[in-house]
Amino acid sequence: MKKNKIVPISIIGLVLVLLSIIAAYIITEKNNFTSIENSQKNIVNDNKTDVKVNKENQSKYVKPREFKGENLIYNDKQIPVLMYHSIADNSNVTNLASKSIILPPEVFREQMQYLKDNGYTTLTLDELYNFLKNNKPVPEKSVVLTFDDAYKDNYTNAYPILKEFGFKATIFVITGGTDKIGAYLTSDQIKEMYANGIDIQSHTVNHEDLDKLSLEKQQETLVQSKQFLEKLLNKKVDFIAYPSGKYNNFTEQAAKNAGYTMAFTINSGWANRDTNIYFLNRVFVNALKDFEQFKERLNNSNYE
Ligand SMILES: [Zn+2]
Repeated sequence: MKKNKIVPISIIGLVLVLLSIIAAYIITEKNNFTSIENSQKNIVNDNKTDVKVNKENQSKYVKPREFKGENLIYNDKQIPVLMYHSIADNSNVTNLASKSIILPPEVFREQMQYLKDNGYTTLTLDELYNFLKNNKPVPEKSVVLTFDDAYKDNYTNAYPILKEFGFKATIFVITGGTDKIGAYLTSDQIKEMYANGIDIQSHTVNHEDLDKLSLEKQQETLVQSKQFLEKLLNKKVDFIAYPSGKYNNFTEQAAKNAGYTMAFTINSGWANRDTNIYFLNRVFVNALKDFEQFKERLNNSNYE
């Protein structure tokens, strides 16, 4: 009696062990296949993106770069996003607030030389986005150059220097000023820069104070400026810098509704993965401060 009971139990046990081994084998194989399939899908998608980009515009700029080497960081650091406005002589400007946003070209050149001499890589906003959102590696010494408002001197003074150094940069354009207000870039200047490594993104239509507007009104200026630039450059506009860094409780939703995927304030600090991607910090390059402060802001994420 006892013996008869034991035999079937050990047979069932043996069968169960065999079944688990087979199941484990099948699951492993399936996972391998899925990951291969996914990586193939990614390659296909990448190719598709490249073809589309090349067809839509001739800018070599938007083609994704593949960073390699030892000084890559993955997700534990922040990146300084430098904020410039006007690059011009400021010696006759007496108002200190105005003077602070007008950086003399020779100072700008000195700063760019510092970036070059110290091995910095200037990232595009797409690269910053992929670093923050998708964990894509970037060089350890990465920095992002941004210019607000789209002053004409960005073309006459900053652009030649950026070109000389081969640096990537982004201009946030007040689209209502384009071709209409003398101080701002023309559409031809915007197009030329975009074709030569300078990305163009939105800074609203009329530099509205978003913190004073309803959801609908914010959305209006966010959508219209986006559409204007997309039509002008035949490319997607995904990013925005809020005018004067102002926003309210509706702003994030308005930006999302308008189709933006990342946005910048003028809140002081480095762009950090832990911050809401619709409210990224930037480092103000203050024309009233000296070179030591510039270096401090580049090297220390907890700068004063
Ligand atoms: Zn502005």
